[in-house]
Amino acid sequence: MRKGIIVPIFLPYAGCKRRCVFCDQFTVSGEREVLPPWRIGTVVKKWEKYGRVEEIGFYGGTFTGLHKDLMISYLSSIREMYPHVRIRVSTRPDELEEEKLDILSNFGVEYVEVGVQTFRDEVLQACHRGYDGKTAVKALERLKSRGFTVGVHLMQGLPGNTFEDEFEDVKQVARLKVDSCRLHPTLVFQDTPLHEMMSRGEYTPLSLSEALSRLVSMYIFLRGKGIVVNRIGLFLDENARKRLVAGPYHPALGHMVKAEAVFVKIRELIKDGRIQVVLDKRYYPLLAGYRSRNMKRWKNRRVEVMVVFSEGFTVNGVSFLWLI
Ligand code: SF4
Repeated sequence: MRKGIIVPIFLPYAGCKRRCVFCDQFTVSGEREVLPPWRIGTVVKKWEKYGRVEEIGFYGGTFTGLHKDLMISYLSSIREMYPHVRIRVSTRPDELEEEKLDILSNFGVEYVEVGVQTFRDEVLQACHRGYDGKTAVKALERLKSRGFTVGVHLMQGLPGNTFEDEFEDVKQVARLKVDSCRLHPTLVFQDTPLHEMMSRGEYTPLSLSEALSRLVSMYIFLRGKGIVVNRIGLFLDENARKRLVAGPYHPALGHMVKAEAVFVKIRELIKDGRIQVVLDKRYYPLLAGYRSRNMKRWKNRRVEVMVVFSEGFTVNGVSFLWLI
């Protein structure tokens, strides 16, 4: 059977009624133009050579901020070609009124990803988001109560947010029982309002090590609550990296966070200076750490690591599958 693929459709800034201070969708998505509904089929067809189209996702703008006729055009153009494919859309908390959710439901959209970024009012205001924390909570509750699968995007290092504030954000998404979460440390792109704030000395981005330490704690917490963490950090191509001015960017950030989380949780289980790890080979990079950093640290601490390759992932008999 051919492997299933998710086709991403980027609609940069489509449906956005304001610009958030950190946002540079043209750079991040690599797209300058909004694909019209009548071209969706051609784009999706091109992806068919890579596998069976399982899901189509709209990213890069505010899907439910589009005029409702345009939303319907996009969704019906997919449904005409692919009656059974899963559809996901990404949007903002203040564009999720019941009428818009009706449209999504009518076209069988299952997954809604919401760019919450933070629940803190002052920070939302400083970022020019245009809604408050309560609006975000209500929107997520509405989506859950209507049976959508709900993903949330949270950002770290936004102007005015501390680690404690950001940890409250992950606690809030756990209370709301969202299904998945993306964690994006704030990056500064050229010529954005955030870049100007930084030039005026009003904003200092997180260092990579600070971002890593915050992300590891949040990641462990979210996974402990059974929430899927489906992305950590932005993917940037070469052109996007040229426009990156500052911020904790690393192409392997997700791997670094997960491997550090494994290190932290193993540290709690060490007995008599040794650990016995049984794991599937594909999980070994998480045990070893980025550039074998974890193994080097165990060696420096004189901890003996015994590895047996088999199914699953256990450390001294305790399963780690929940964490990865
Ligand atoms: S709503 Fe999202 S896509 Fe639109 S400007 Fe803000 S961050 Fe960018």
